[in-house]
Amino acid sequence: MTEEKKYGLIVIGGGMTGLSTALTWALNHDTKKDPVLLIEKEPKTGGYVTSYEREGFLFDTCQMIPNISDILDYLGIEIELKKFKGYYMRIFIVDPKTGEKKVLELPSGVETFKKQLMEQYPNNAKQIEDFLDYSRAMYLELYNLKVEPTVSEIFKTLRKCPKIVKNSSKTFKEYFEKFEITEQEVKEIFNVFAEFSALPSEEVSAIVPISAMNSLLDGAFRPTKGFIEFTKKIEDRFKSLGGDLLLNTKVDKILVEEGKVQGIKLKNGNEIYSDYVVTTCDPKVAMIDMVGLDIIRELNKKYAKKVEEVKMSCSSMNLSIGVDDDIDLEALGLDCGYNVITTGGDSYDRLFDAYEKGEIGFNNNRFHLGVICPSLTTGGKPNLTVRITPVPLGNWLELREKDTEEYKKEKLRWAEFFIDKVEKYLIPDLRKHIKVLDISTPATYARYSGSPTGSVYDMAPYTNNFGRTRLKMRTPIEGLFQPKFVHGVFGCLLAGIQVNDMILDGKIMNGYARYKP
Ligand SMILES: Cc1cc2nc3c(=O)[nH]c(=O)nc-3n(C[C@H](O)[C@H](O)[C@H](O)COP(=O)(O)OP(=O)(O)OC[C@H]3O[C@@H](n4cnc5c(N)ncnc54)[C@H](O)[C@@H]3O)c2cc1C
Repeated sequence: MTEEKKYGLIVIGGGMTGLSTALTWALNHDTKKDPVLLIEKEPKTGGYVTSYEREGFLFDTCQMIPNISDILDYLGIEIELKKFKGYYMRIFIVDPKTGEKKVLELPSGVETFKKQLMEQYPNNAKQIEDFLDYSRAMYLELYNLKVEPTVSEIFKTLRKCPKIVKNSSKTFKEYFEKFEITEQEVKEIFNVFAEFSALPSEEVSAIVPISAMNSLLDGAFRPTKGFIEFTKKIEDRFKSLGGDLLLNTKVDKILVEEGKVQGIKLKNGNEIYSDYVVTTCDPKVAMIDMVGLDIIRELNKKYAKKVEEVKMSCSSMNLSIGVDDDIDLEALGLDCGYNVITTGGDSYDRLFDAYEKGEIGFNNNRFHLGVICPSLTTGGKPNLTVRITPVPLGNWLELREKDTEEYKKEKLRWAEFFIDKVEKYLIPDLRKHIKVLDISTPATYARYSGSPTGSVYDMAPYTNNFGRTRLKMRTPIEGLFQPKFVHGVFGCLLAGIQVNDMILDGKIMNGYARYKP
């Protein structure tokens, strides 16, 4: 075993959360005196946020982010972002029996969106207005929320965040029903926002879709040179401030003595020491495999129980499709944000029932998928991304490891299924134009993130797994933190700043849940 120098902070995992954590430390310390080390098991940083090239087509895992200019300014990152033009979202509600489809087109901009819905559904105009206004106000209350409130701050929260307090334990369905919206189409529209959280509306904590809806309606963006440029810029800035980065290096254990973190042990046996460690890996892996539940239990039984009970989010399939130049994607209206093709009604709820049993619930009568055309926003050879949730890990990993041929066949079979739907309802003759098809399965996600469930959105925001009831960022082990609880790039960047704020006793965000410049 070699003893390395002692670090001020060690960050495990170089995804968006780890990058933001490490960079924020470097911004707030003299890295010569308080050095910071970021450790990533893969040959590059970025984790789930990455771009990859196949036969001249550039594909991204991630597709869109809200306006995060405040956070980028704080981190000192300059990146060219392009706003999605056209509609924010189009929802195709289809009837597989008749082949009929109803297309709902939703504009960007909170006020425009509200006006259009109120005009389109006059019978529910008042209810729509109430719902959107109340939800906007609740979303803005997030800026008054403290992460670890003192007793007096709890009283302030009751006054300053009444809507959040009132609705914090409500599912989106329960919350939505209060507004007595009766139009089925309007219900479909808002359910799609719930499903962006990869949970059905009857399960997801109300505040999550409300936040996603409000932040994305303000504008949805993509980096012009692929999401990989984004991660690279954060990495470069971190290194320029004196941060150390170890790639191709896997952390095996988090070292703890007498309730205090001591550092980490690498897979190769080397130990590196620090009084602060931030883990950004799957929280179950970090707490159970790297620390050990017995150690946590001795310090805090409740936290240990919570670790055992944490529900991780679902996994996914993703089709990256490169097409030839003979197809006019713009004429098909694809220069917008998301195109959702769904059999509507309770489809997502039933897909989720199957997922919870470890099954894929998609069939010809029940499906729900998102289609995006990144190249119409940020250029490059024409390409499409098809996003599919919820998909369980099931036997994908086993199949890939034991029978590669069968694995390839199975993923192609599902890809054909989803391409069929896109071809039937959105892009006629799509198949004829496909030049490249790259398919990711839950096994792909499990491998890259190290999450045994291939979870794509961290801990799932069920009402008993989110907000006040989530697994806390501050662990019972002194000096050990795990800022993993929100899905999406914005949430990860924010969490990295937040965890530094906690370590620095509120120096950056004064303990607030949202960053305010
Ligand atoms: C297909 C897909 C599409 C998405 N689309 C969007 C989108 O459009 N917009 C959006 O905002 N969000 C999107 N997301 C979600 C977003 O990408 C994630 O929320 C975010 O990237 C998670 O970042 P993270 O750093 O918390 O975790 P990860 O990205 O999982 O990073 C964890 C890192 O830790 C490393 N690691 C794990 N174990 C170890 C170990 N033992 N030692 C060292 N390193 C280790 C991993 O290699 C990885 O790099 C998408 C996710 C997926 C999968």
